[in-house]
Parts: sequence; structure tokens; C-alpha cells
Amino acid sequence: MPELPEVEVTRQSFCERIHGARVTAVRVGKPLRWPLGVVPDSLVARTVGEVARRGKYLWLPLEDDGREAGGLLMHLGMSGSLAFSPAPGHAGVHDHFDLVTSRGTLRLTDPRRFGAVVWSASRSDGMAAKLLNGLGLEPFDPAFTGAHLHAALKRRRVAVKLALLSGDIVVGAGNIYACEALFAAGIDPRKRSDQVSRPRADRLAAAIRDTLGRALALGGSTLRDFRDAHGMEGRFQAQAGVYGRAGGPCDACGTPIRRIVQGQRATFFCPTCQRR
Ligand SMILES: [Zn+2]
Repeated sequence: MPELPEVEVTRQSFCERIHGARVTAVRVGKPLRWPLGVVPDSLVARTVGEVARRGKYLWLPLEDDGREAGGLLMHLGMSGSLAFSPAPGHAGVHDHFDLVTSRGTLRLTDPRRFGAVVWSASRSDGMAAKLLNGLGLEPFDPAFTGAHLHAALKRRRVAVKLALLSGDIVVGAGNIYACEALFAAGIDPRKRSDQVSRPRADRLAAAIRDTLGRALALGGSTLRDFRDAHGMEGRFQAQAGVYGRAGGPCDACGTPIRRIVQGQRATFFCPTCQRR
């Protein structure tokens, strides 16, 4: 499943090239998670503004005479990828959306079709507002501090890992990154969120930023084109301290890494380095 680092690397891969391009056609394939919400042809002749990311969503503003006139909110779902190419060729069986522009075609390929392309009048209107409003802070937002995390964790009584996965405190801490950040911070993933102390919340906030920062750096340095964004999690996992390493020795203390299931997702942790 594409996580925040993959989505950000995807954004960086085409953001500059598509900025200022004029929409010449819109092709809609099989239904995605939600309907587009606008007559496709009505987008023709608009100009693509600066592509932004919020959580795992990308926002493509569409301008009319230099003024923002709505935009497209995109999500890669479970299996989606976006590619911007000057000559994309015929749409294949899994290609469900093409934004054809004067500079190339932005194509969503999504075999499982949990992805989405949704039109909204602005980021703070309609479907976009509905999908974006409940999101937690961005991990690199200066407002995401240990104090913020500590206060937010205090308001719930679930395992700290599940509080991170929910995405309403901070976005981007998907399964692999939540496991790794908790390992780096020395916190047992089963620890109740409201019992995490302020110093440990400080360490956890820093570990979340550091973990996602390393994933982004790895993605930026190893990707030749954005189709490769699919392999990012695998490359990050090859350097992971605990994720996917059940039974193997912890690099820090040699204790076998444990695997448990929390909220139907696999959790990996070191029972010695990570304390309740
Ligand atoms: Zn250990």
C-alpha cells in the first residue's frame, strides 16, 4: 500500500513538469472508490497549478485565467500509482484515469481500484474538505511537537501504536513507519496511549520525523522514475530495525524480535529495548 513517503516522492516526480500545463482531455476508465464529481470535459482548457500533498492525498489545483477554479484530489488507495509521461501509450486494463495536458499525460494505474480522483471547488469545499478535515498534523509541520503528541495521546485510551495508525494525530505513521518509530523511541507498541510520558512523547515525535525523513531520503535517492515508488517500502524494510524481522535478533540487544497483531495489522518490536 502506498504510504506517505511514496506519495510525496510521486508528487515530487511530476510536480514541476505539470505546473502550468493546459488540460486538453480527460479520460475516465472503470469506477474508482468515489465518482469524479464533475463532467470530465468541463476541465478542458484549465491550467494545472502547484501540486500539493496532504497526508496521502495529492491536490491538483486547476486554474482558469490564473485563478483557482477547483481541483482534483487524488489518492492511490491500496495499489495505485501515478505516472506523468509525454507519450503514455494506450490505456491498459488497469489504467482508470488520464489527465491529458499540453505537456504530457498524468495517468492513474490502479489494479484494485481503491484509489480515487475527485473534483472539488477548492481544498476546503465539498468532497476534498470531507476527506482532508479529519487528518492529523503533517509530521514535518513545526506544530507537530512532543507536547502536541503528548496531549493528543492523553485524550485516548488505546495502544500507542493504534493511536499512531489512526492518522488523526499525525499523518504518515503507516504500519512499517509506526513500528520503526516506536522501536527508535524505545516504547512498547502495546503501551496505553494516555500513559505515555512527556519525555517519551518528545522522543516519539522526533522518531516519527526521523523515520519518515529516512524513507523520503531513500526514495529520493534510489528512484529513477516514479513507477519505482512502489518498491520504496521494500527498500526501507531492508534497513528496518524490527519490521518484518520476527524471530531475528535485535541489532541493539540480540533479543529475538516479536510479532503480534494489533488492530488486524502485524506489529514487530523488541521486548527488551521497548518498554511499557
Ligand atoms: Zn533490543
